[in-house]
Amino acid sequence: MPIFEYRCDDCGREFEALVRRSTVPQCPACASTHLDKKLSTFATAGSQPEPMAAMGPCGSCGHPDGPGACALH
Ligand SMILES: [Zn+2]
Repeated sequence: MPIFEYRCDDCGREFEALVRRSTVPQCPACASTHLDKKLSTFATAGSQPEPMAAMGPCGSCGHPDGPGACALH
């Protein structure tokens, strides 16, 4: 579930909100819906390289039968 960072246009409060497609986020301080979306924390995390050393022989999912053995890779 995506987490977005917002800044309230009305009171300047910055906060994070879990946002589903049909949900309109509100400022927790003043309940305003005039918000600036800043960035997704998922997008931030995705831009950084994952440490592969922690993974198994597959190199991506750790499946013991090797690369391509699992359904995902
Ligand atoms: Zn506000």
